[in-house]
Order: sequence, then C-alpha cells, then structure tokens
Amino acid sequence: MSTAAPTLAERLAAVRSEIADAASVAGRNVDDITTIVVTKFHPASLIRELSQLGVRDVGENRHQDAAPKAAELASLDLTWHFIGQLQSNKVRAVLDYASDIQSVDRPSLVSAIAAVGKPVDAFIQLNLTNDAGRGGVTEASLDALVETVLAAPTVTLRGLMAVAPLGEDPRRAFERVRRVSERMLRSAPTASALSMGMSGDFREAVLEGATHLRIGTAITGKRADAG
Ligand SMILES: *Cc1c(COP(=O)(O)O)cnc(C)c1O
Repeated sequence: MSTAAPTLAERLAAVRSEIADAASVAGRNVDDITTIVVTKFHPASLIRELSQLGVRDVGENRHQDAAPKAAELASLDLTWHFIGQLQSNKVRAVLDYASDIQSVDRPSLVSAIAAVGKPVDAFIQLNLTNDAGRGGVTEASLDALVETVLAAPTVTLRGLMAVAPLGEDPRRAFERVRRVSERMLRSAPTASALSMGMSGDFREAVLEGATHLRIGTAITGKRADAG
C-alpha cells in the first residue's frame, strides 16, 4: 500500500464523488452544479494539469496573479471566474479574460463593468458577517444594488455569491443565502444562481441549492510554495 500523498487527479476525483453523493442526497442533478476550481496561489502549470483532467471552470481572486496565467493558458478551453474584491480601475483588464464577476459589492463597480460595454455575467456577493471588510454587500443594501445591476443593460445578474462565516454552521449560513435569494427573485426572476460552498463546506452548500461551488485546497492542495 502506498502512503504517498494523494495526487491532483485523486483529490479531484474524491471531490467530484463527494459532490455527486451530496447531490444525490439532495435529490439534485449533479449536472446542475458547476464546480469552479479556485487556483489562486498556484501556477499556470497546475491549471494546465487540471484542464487535462477535464476541469473547465477556474476561479481567481487577484487580477495581478490571474492575468498572466490567463494569458499563458489562453489556448485552453477554460472559463475564468473572478471571485475576489475588485477595484473599479481593474475591471476592464479583468474582463479581458473573465467571463463573470462573482464579487459585485457596490454600485460604482457595476458602473465600471457597464462602462466596458461588453456583456458580462455578474453575481452579487452577499456579506454574511457584520464585518464590512470581509467583502460583499449587506442584506440591508442588497435591494438597491440589485436595482443598479438590473438597470445596467450589458450586465446580466446571475445570482448571489457568499462565503460562510467562520464560527457559524455553514448549513445555516447557506440557508440564509437561499432565503435572501428567494426574496431577490421577486425583482430579478432569472437571477437564481447560488455560488456558495468551498473546500470545507461544499456538501452543505449542495444541500442548500448551490449551483456554483468554488473549491480550492481540497482539489489543489496547499499553496504551491508551502510544501
Ligand atoms: C479562496 C477562495 C475559495 C476557495 O477556498 P478553499 O477553502 O481553498 O476551497 C472560494 N471562494 C473565495 C471567494 C475564495 O477567495
């Protein structure tokens, strides 16, 4: 028997099988769930390997790191999702490679996206904590932001993105997101996507209806320079 650490292929297979299992428990079709492999901290070579293993969706949270990787891998059939806090002056450059921005958190960012003038899918990030520095819009400010996105003709609101707070049962946190989503659907009936669930809590996210999982370390391992 080998005691070697699992390979990338083995970790990916294990996560895929856990997602399929959670979907089956939830009575959901696994094809309705997009798994975004979060590749921050990892080099383009790892993303190339993921691509060879059938991964199509990757997520990055910093433009400075993502841009050179996206440029190097432009010939691969990958969809790049932007999931980090974003300065308005970087939006145009991010949209050179990213097909959606999952971290829309303020009206000025929506204006910056709209100013680029090309079609963009957007997720509004909902902040589930009381700490404004965590990123995302508070529930109290959500309705106004939804209106801003709906008024931007080139921006398509896909749904909500959220990170479960430390110290809260993730299932309960994701249930909160689902309820907010149900309320938001009254004004934005097609914005039904839910991007929630990371390495430690994707099972709970699937059970609460996640349509997009953002999974990093469970698949990629720790950051490349740490081991
Ligand atoms: C890093 C990151 C993830 C992935 O986190 P893991 O715990 O490594 O799976 C998901 N979402 C966002 C917004 C992130 O920044």
